[in-house]
Amino acid sequence: MRRWICASVDLDPVSAYLIRRGRAPAPAGSADPVYTDCLERFLELFAALSIPATFFSLGAPLAAACNAAGLIQAVRAGHEVGNHSNSHPNDLRLLDDGALRAEIDLAEQAIVTQVGTRPVGFRAPGWNLDRRVLVHLAQRGYLYDSSLVPLPIKPSLALWKRLLGPRLPWPMLAGQLRWPRGPTAPYRLDLERPWRPGRGALWEVPCGAAGLWPLPLNLSLHHLLGDGLAGILERLAPLTAQPLVLVMHGLDLAEDELLHALALGKAGLDAPLGLRRTRVRRFLEVLGRGRSWCSLRDLAVQRGAVGLVESPRGR
Ligand SMILES: [Zn+2]
Repeated sequence: MRRWICASVDLDPVSAYLIRRGRAPAPAGSADPVYTDCLERFLELFAALSIPATFFSLGAPLAAACNAAGLIQAVRAGHEVGNHSNSHPNDLRLLDDGALRAEIDLAEQAIVTQVGTRPVGFRAPGWNLDRRVLVHLAQRGYLYDSSLVPLPIKPSLALWKRLLGPRLPWPMLAGQLRWPRGPTAPYRLDLERPWRPGRGALWEVPCGAAGLWPLPLNLSLHHLLGDGLAGILERLAPLTAQPLVLVMHGLDLAEDELLHALALGKAGLDAPLGLRRTRVRRFLEVLGRGRSWCSLRDLAVQRGAVGLVESPRGR
């Protein structure tokens, strides 16, 4: 049986990091290095490794043509562009109905008009998912969501908090704490109980799941764990036949000067760009061994096409 792997890159703009730290955002309509330089570096890397990837884009930065240009190039190269909300509110779950829907719809409109492709997938900012989001995505005809983190989330959040301390921006992940752990392979959603398979048209492509590993397949976390612990994950990955969904961020390939100016204090991002580029490449090469790459959209499509709908389980 063929084994699959997906690379996803969340294009959180520089302004999202500034706002999260109480600093003034860049002026609206200005070039954002995540959508220009960082995206270009990811495109070079994916071209070298023949990886069709999924970029989750915000809507607001696309008002600047220079920010949209990289995504137009990405679509031409065969990559997918998904919806990551309009302005990246980490408190998405706390917004009222109108504001919540606007976050999804404005981003979709921006991607359609500025990039020329209609997104069929969504990833919630900060993984802070809400049932209303899933209902709205289903009504809008989306194919999949990729925001659920099917981990033993409560114990792992405690570990995250220990590792990241005050840098973990609450209410990031908070939307998931109310739900039990779901499947780690793609499944059709039960909108009333998103942690279990149902019969709806909307798929969940669980985010960063490896099946055997208690933490997300997130490059930032990979950096944080260091090469030794990350090496354990790399040895475990071949043991699971389930698809791997890797999570990266545009800022992973940012210029040293930009990261220094942002002073994020994130482990791994203090390494020079050359070393980070090597690490990203290794992350992709090692986890991709013996697997075929596809976009999240294509993973959801092929799961639907071959009818791999898991039967509902009692939970
Ligand atoms: Zn994000």
